[in-house]
Amino acid sequence: MEIKSEKSITTHSPDITRTLGELLGKKAYAGMVLTLNGDLGCGKTTFTQGVARGLGIPTDYHVTSPTYTLINEYPGRHRLFHVDLYRLSIGADLEDIGIYDILDGDQVVVIEWADRMLPEDLPKQRVDIKFRTSGTKCREILLTAYGLEATNLLNGIDISGLAPDTPIP
Ligand code: ADP
Ligand code: MG
Repeated sequence: MEIKSEKSITTHSPDITRTLGELLGKKAYAGMVLTLNGDLGCGKTTFTQGVARGLGIPTDYHVTSPTYTLINEYPGRHRLFHVDLYRLSIGADLEDIGIYDILDGDQVVVIEWADRMLPEDLPKQRVDIKFRTSGTKCREILLTAYGLEATNLLNGIDISGLAPDTPIP
């Protein structure tokens, strides 16, 4: 049977989205893969900055979308590869970009616009994270973990402190 876990949260500021990423970064296991999907400006890069912080990546590295290179690399407790497929040209060979090499190691991989890949090309063990913009400050974030390690990670994260009971106007 498939091992799966799901959590959702509405964040009311970029800082809270960053803190959510940090919680995952702190508990990251070797080889953790996070896929991030959602429209431009929904918080994928902001979330990734938190993952970097949780991995202990030195603060002098400024995590931004890897626009021209498609993949950025940062040193941390686990090495972080930050992939952004937004500008992937149609028909481009993902093999040439080197994605399969990094999906097959001990590093942490965060992929913005992962839905530009075929699902069967993604590892079975991963956390899929969907972002939806809800007004200027709110982002609805749905996390779905697949596989034992990813499920344990998500179950071990306490997000209750991040979401205020009453929405901030
Ligand atoms: P993406 O990488 O998905 O295109 P970014 O993280 O680069 O998105 O940008 C998100 C933008 O939305 C930032 O300007 C950020 O300040 C703003 N923002 C407002 N509210 C939130 C929130 N709750 N979470 C994340 N970003 C938010
Ligand atoms: Mg981005």
